[in-house]
Amino acid sequence: RAAAPRGSWSSESSASSGCWEPQYRVVLLGDPGVGKTSLANAFAGVQERDLLEQHGEVAYERTLSVDGEETTLLVIDAWEPERRESWHRSHCLQVGNAYVIVYSITDHGSFESASELRIQLRSMRQAEDIPIILVGNKSDLVRCREVSVEGGASGFIETSAALQHNVAELFEGVVRQLRLRREGKEA
Ligand code: GDP
Repeated sequence: RAAAPRGSWSSESSASSGCWEPQYRVVLLGDPGVGKTSLANAFAGVQERDLLEQHGEVAYERTLSVDGEETTLLVIDAWEPERRESWHRSHCLQVGNAYVIVYSITDHGSFESASELRIQLRSMRQAEDIPIILVGNKSDLVRCREVSVEGGASGFIETSAALQHNVAELFEGVVRQLRLRREGKEA
């Protein structure tokens, strides 16, 4: 079922569903060229794309229906590892409710960067149990593969932004992981 377009923010908000849908910030990390922007575009879709530019950040907002429940993700594509300002870096590492760390299966160096980023995030956000998903993108480029499949590892998925393969599954997985944590807190 397609979501009915929301005419305004005001009238229909809390009355129908009892409360606002939960919204989560999902930050994309990873080396330049691994496909973060392509994944964000594939997530947003051409028609539903809602591009918000705030302070140089680019965010894509979309409401997903997963297991019969709606959840809004704000996917933030602002990571620039070459930027020297450490505030930008730490801001990115602090604002996410969940992280998607992307590497390219055709670039072993990007896999090493992704692994380092995961360790850094875990130590920076030690007190919180935030979802971190490791993504091997460009799975369509089979002949150029430099990184083997992390078979069966949890919190890991291979995608092809070019072919739109596993992109929906990736973000549905993010939603499920976020809900698991939320339910853990409520219990
Ligand atoms: P970013 O710097 O991480 O945001 O990477 P981009 O999204 O700009 O992608 C870098 C280049 O890789 C572009 O030329 C994309 O078209 C290409 N690319 C991204 N994802 C894929 C993919 O899944 N398969 C292939 N073959 N190319 C991809």
